[in-house]
Amino acid sequence: MPAEILERVFVDLADRSYTISIGSDLIPSFAELASDHLQSDRLFIITDENVAPHYLSPLLESCAAAHLHVETVILPAGEQTKSFSQYESLINRLLSYKPSRKDCLVALGGGVIGDLVGYVASSLLRGLPFIQVPTTLLSQVDSSVGGKTGINTKYGKNLVGAFYQPEAVFIDINSLSTLPARETLAGYAEVVKYGLINDETFFSWLEENGPSLLKGDKDLMAQAISKSCQSKAQVVSEDEREGGKRALLNLGHTFGHAIEAACGYDGTLLHGEGVSIGMCLAFEASVHLGLCPQEEADRVARHLKACGMMTRAADVPHTLEADTLVNNMAQDKKIEAGEIVFVLAEGIGKSLLVKGPDSQIIKTTIMRSLK
Ligand code: NAD
Ligand code: MG
Repeated sequence: MPAEILERVFVDLADRSYTISIGSDLIPSFAELASDHLQSDRLFIITDENVAPHYLSPLLESCAAAHLHVETVILPAGEQTKSFSQYESLINRLLSYKPSRKDCLVALGGGVIGDLVGYVASSLLRGLPFIQVPTTLLSQVDSSVGGKTGINTKYGKNLVGAFYQPEAVFIDINSLSTLPARETLAGYAEVVKYGLINDETFFSWLEENGPSLLKGDKDLMAQAISKSCQSKAQVVSEDEREGGKRALLNLGHTFGHAIEAACGYDGTLLHGEGVSIGMCLAFEASVHLGLCPQEEADRVARHLKACGMMTRAADVPHTLEADTLVNNMAQDKKIEAGEIVFVLAEGIGKSLLVKGPDSQIIKTTIMRSLK
């Protein structure tokens, strides 16, 4: 099947600008599509053990047909792969192939592969080009846009990394056909987030089309991915290094990270599941702080629930304590002068940053969500 590009999103970042192409069968046509972005005929494809059986062969076949020289690295799947040890072994493996600064790294996989490979690309030989081929909904709408790359440390997630933009991103929506439904749903939380931040029309569109696109309607899915990438690209173009507006992308994340951390990152709770609950908590807290009408918060929870997502801390299959969650929030990266910066909302599509809101109200909101 020839590639069909359904949508294109331009990420406008001066000389670091790039295009995200969204469509079907982009992986089997990868070499052809990527040819304009390659400075040499050598590629290093890095993927994980779950993605490789489905998508590595078509990618390799397209490269062979284009007479590209390819080395492939298949890493273990999972968050543990974003580690110093995997970073070191990947760097050494690539150095053993004697790469040049014109050779290109290709990240084929979800956010774990994208973040690790992006960081390796930023630092190997002081930086060589890389292309993202994200294969999870989360990586397609979030981690492949905006140039944050990195690995985890024993002190916390994503604490070592770089802002480093790819040459191009190719999103093959067919890759979602093998993604476990739970992962798709977790990625969908980030899609909903874009509507909640600043686009009420998109949220209404999701209320109407979300259930169908989650059932596999590809055209609707491509539209939702495109809209999400546009939304993130817009924010990133205005604030590449998170000096201000980019922080709005953390809607639901302060609460979400606190819940994720309490669950111990062992797969009990996926990131997007934490974000789904976190967005509901952010809206509930906004209601209690007198910022947002209750109906708006109810509408957010209703949509997430209709799609089969968790909306309350009590939905988490793990015993949670309000105090633990409050303490976890105090460890959040988004702290300014000792005060946590929350993303709250005056309504759907009307989010705002609030530094140090009333901590008792935040705690009460969490306690209610735990009941
Ligand atoms: P992931 O990469 O671990 O993928 C989830 C699971 O799905 C893995 O088991 C993977 O092997 C499997 N998988 C991937 N594609 C598949 C496919 N098409 N078919 C079947 N299985 C497939 O996780 P993720 O949710 O994609 O990304 C999470 C990571 O992204 C986290 O480390 C997070 O910190 C990071 N992230 C980064 C940014 C950023 O701006 N850089 C933004 C959001 C999240
Ligand atoms: Mg997120």
